[in-house]
Amino acid sequence: MLLSTHELYFVLCGAVALFVLGVVLSYLAHKGSSNADPQAALIARLEKALPGAQCAQCGFPGCRAYAEALAAGTAPCNKCTPGGQNTTDALAEILGVSVPVDDSEDAIFTPRTVAIIHESICTGCTKCSRKCPVDAIQGTIKNPHRVVEYDCIGCGDCVKCCPENCIELVRLEPTIANFNWELRSIRFTGGAK
Ligand code: SF4
Ligand code: SF4
Ligand code: SF4
Repeated sequence: MLLSTHELYFVLCGAVALFVLGVVLSYLAHKGSSNADPQAALIARLEKALPGAQCAQCGFPGCRAYAEALAAGTAPCNKCTPGGQNTTDALAEILGVSVPVDDSEDAIFTPRTVAIIHESICTGCTKCSRKCPVDAIQGTIKNPHRVVEYDCIGCGDCVKCCPENCIELVRLEPTIANFNWELRSIRFTGGAK
């Protein structure tokens, strides 16, 4: 059945109107989603600028936690040891702040976060040692486990999986005995211009 010119005109107008409506709705949906949670978008940008080593040298249990603290304004942007100066500059730019000049000892020797196991409560279920991404937990089944402090990157994965709640994350004030010299050299290498 052929359409009359009049009918064809209405069909074409309807199609064009639907197309324009689709474009407008799509634009509004996109605009709405990008404005939905600016804080989450900021955290995502900051996390993307971090190296992702999850080493906790910034004093936070991983890059995400550091990005959240940066976005909340509770952490300075020069704490990422592996990222060095380039990362500090990138974070400062995203946050719209000037690069902090911090010559204090804490700026260089950032306290690490590590896990400790309360061995008197540990049942030796081995869940934590199987979960640890860097094999920093030692122990055999049904015997108390322990964290090798030097290897722990403070990611907190073991804390979440322990059924006995006997693992705790603690800030480790740096000493000559526990300081990670490899990461210190990475920091200074990264900081070289
Ligand atoms: S110091 Fe390590 S955990 Fe912290 S932001 Fe840098 S790479 Fe991530
Ligand atoms: S899982 Fe626990 S012991 Fe292993 S690196 Fe993470 S915090 Fe340290
Ligand atoms: S998960 Fe908890 S109870 Fe199980 S071995 Fe590790 S520290 Fe011990």
